[in-house]
Amino acid sequence: MMYRCDRCHQQQPAGVPSTLIPTEIRRVTYPARVGIHASPPAKTSAGRYAQRASRERRPDPGGHGHETVREERCCPCCSADHHSS
Ligand SMILES: [Zn+2]
Repeated sequence: MMYRCDRCHQQQPAGVPSTLIPTEIRRVTYPARVGIHASPPAKTSAGRYAQRASRERRPDPGGHGHETVREERCCPCCSADHHSS
């Protein structure tokens, strides 16, 4: 698909790969959530998996991470410049 590079503003012909470069990121905190992950199937005493999935739900501890706010679609030339600088 054709696209216009966000850095050099040149129209790129079809077949030229594009690279998305994040220009703005934000730090996010994910809250802890209770009882949302399914437990793995329990094994029976015979060593086989139980017929029914366990109803037990495990919590998610939450945590920190990063999200992309803004990104630029760049041609191979501009993405090479970005990685070398
Ligand atoms: Zn470019």
